[in-house]
Amino acid sequence: MTTYKGACFCGTVTLECTGAPSRMGYCHCRSCRSWSAGPVNGFTIWAPDQVKITGGAEHLGTFAKTPRSERQWCKLCGGHVMTVHPAGPYIDVYAATIPDLPFVPSMHVHYAETVLPMKDGLPKFSAGGGSALVAEG
Ligand SMILES: [Zn+2]
Ligand SMILES: [Zn+2]
Repeated sequence: MTTYKGACFCGTVTLECTGAPSRMGYCHCRSCRSWSAGPVNGFTIWAPDQVKITGGAEHLGTFAKTPRSERQWCKLCGGHVMTVHPAGPYIDVYAATIPDLPFVPSMHVHYAETVLPMKDGLPKFSAGGGSALVAEG
């Protein structure tokens, strides 16, 4: 199985993702935008046992605004690493955190909240994956 190596901005927190992500896409929700300070977040979804922190775990901070999402970042550089969704359970490793993984998005989620419309022909779910579809504008 393929292993993809990733790291935070400064390289102290390192991780490995093994196998293939179950989903990849873009999240347009306000929480992701506010947390990432970007107009959209590229996500890759993994089962918890596919993701392993391989270095700097003691520097990994966690903030849970709601119990659904434990957002994790490196306390040394502030670089974002991933969001653990304990209720899934699944882990969203931000696509930018694992540059070696070919990012092949298949959907947009929370598109009803978008501030950056994208015409790319991919399905655009109003909320989470499987919710009502929004037409491309
Ligand atoms: Zn760092
Ligand atoms: Zn989001």
